[in-house]
Amino acid sequence: MSRRVSALDHSVLIRAAGLRVTRQRVAVMNAVDAGPHASATTVLAAVAAVLPGVSHQAVYDCLAHLTEAKLLRRITFGSGAALYETRTHDNHHHCVCRACGLVVDVDCAVGAAPCLDVADAAGFMIDEAEVTYRGLCATCAPAEPRLSNITLREH
Ligand SMILES: [Zn+2]
Ligand SMILES: [Zn+2]
Ligand SMILES: [Zn+2]
Repeated sequence: MSRRVSALDHSVLIRAAGLRVTRQRVAVMNAVDAGPHASATTVLAAVAAVLPGVSHQAVYDCLAHLTEAKLLRRITFGSGAALYETRTHDNHHHCVCRACGLVVDVDCAVGAAPCLDVADAAGFMIDEAEVTYRGLCATCAPAEPRLSNITLREH
């Protein structure tokens, strides 16, 4: 899946979002674009490789500002670290591997949020349904014991 945007395009996007273009912000966008679903720690390492000496705080601030400007999407799965991605303009969902933690984008069958109906919204004006598919990725599936065996052993 090749969807790479050049550094030049990133500065255009950052400016269009009303933010000042800085080397740190461009580096953060490049890092997240090159490795989607990256944690802050991963982004920090990637940015430090191109901007040696960049502070942790500067990278965290960039992530926060770029997320606020909707140039990045911040996602969390359960209690895990927040992950960042540049694919912000669609209502896509994620498959998460229970074994290795691999996160993969999957298109929404409906396309627009909220894509699930709720039986009773309890007075809420709902604008999003967060869908996470869990299972085993193609790499992990053959190595895992069959699910029925696990269930039998537990009972
Ligand atoms: Zn896996
Ligand atoms: Zn995604
Ligand atoms: Zn959906």
